[in-house]
Amino acid sequence: MKQSYLPEKLRRFGAYEVTPPVCEVKLDANESFLTLPAPLKEKMMQAVAGVALNRYPDPMAGKACAAFAALYGVRPEMVTAGNGSDELIGVVISALLEQGKRAMVVTPDFSMYKFYCDLAEITCEQYEKSAELAFDPDDIIRAARERAVDLLIFSNPCNPTGQGLTREQVRRIVRAVDALVVLDEAYMDFWDQSLIAEAAAYPNLIVLKTCSKCIGLAALRMGFAIANQTLTDALRKAKSPYNVNALTQAAAAAILKERDFLANCREQILLSRQTLVQGLDDLARAYPGLIHPYPTVTNFVLLATPKADALYQYLKAHGVLIRKLGETLLRVSCGGERENTIFLTRFEQALKEAAR
Ligand SMILES: *Cc1c(COP(=O)(O)O)cnc(C)c1O
Repeated sequence: MKQSYLPEKLRRFGAYEVTPPVCEVKLDANESFLTLPAPLKEKMMQAVAGVALNRYPDPMAGKACAAFAALYGVRPEMVTAGNGSDELIGVVISALLEQGKRAMVVTPDFSMYKFYCDLAEITCEQYEKSAELAFDPDDIIRAARERAVDLLIFSNPCNPTGQGLTREQVRRIVRAVDALVVLDEAYMDFWDQSLIAEAAAYPNLIVLKTCSKCIGLAALRMGFAIANQTLTDALRKAKSPYNVNALTQAAAAAILKERDFLANCREQILLSRQTLVQGLDDLARAYPGLIHPYPTVTNFVLLATPKADALYQYLKAHGVLIRKLGETLLRVSCGGERENTIFLTRFEQALKEAAR
């Protein structure tokens, strides 16, 4: 008998821990706090009701890709659909790299990049951001060259820092590195520095987008990759044929056509961000040295604090779930008016406790 039927790489993995949403206020996953208005929901339900459940879905998710392409002003031929952008991260890393190739991630960034590198047994170089959690494009270009990486993947704006590189800075990176650049624009709907419109103009760029954040459809699992024809053909070949189920395709296609609704979602989330940032800035002034909120161009705010665990635990015990990252960072998502008020009130109580 073998000692284990599992490979070593899996025995090293921790489970992806998701705290069950048994709380009054859930601000830990950067989801949208908005739900569909009744008439839109009805429209979506009708689209879903028309799906032939006995048939396999469209392998290319044509209608969803077309609606996405129209919304973002790209050609549908450049778009590949995924079961969440998360699946596409896995496809990109396992299909476009092979044994012996090297990827580079920046830290801190979205944890799934390194996860998929480890799963595919791809060497994963880590580039550490500065103490202010920013990174300098020229320095990362230098690092990518020095370490001879084949793929560079990062989110812009970044989860969890909330900060971003300008379009021109990202262009400089894409042009200067001899590597495939995977640019995860999951939060770019909240900012205006997207490279999506010019994605196909580069031989080495893949832009990832998701319906889980600003668009508010995290439950559907729908993401997109935008790239030139060669890369798009490769991704379409490499993904599993029926990766996006037909119900999701139909529902996403219906919602992605609703420009006014989506623009309004963005406005409401940006207003929520204003309230949250203002409230946290006030608390930072009232409790000097306890919390330091970083600037944000996303739908969440990152805070540095020497009391991360105490603050996190206090909130959790009082029905508010946020995200704790390591021992000194907390991340809180924008919520609805009521959620923001409850969070800010209880966070102040937590700070009072911590300051004692
Ligand atoms: C939330 C998030 C995603 C996940 O998107 P899904 O489409 O829900 O899989 C991808 N990238 C980043 C940086 C995220 O924060």
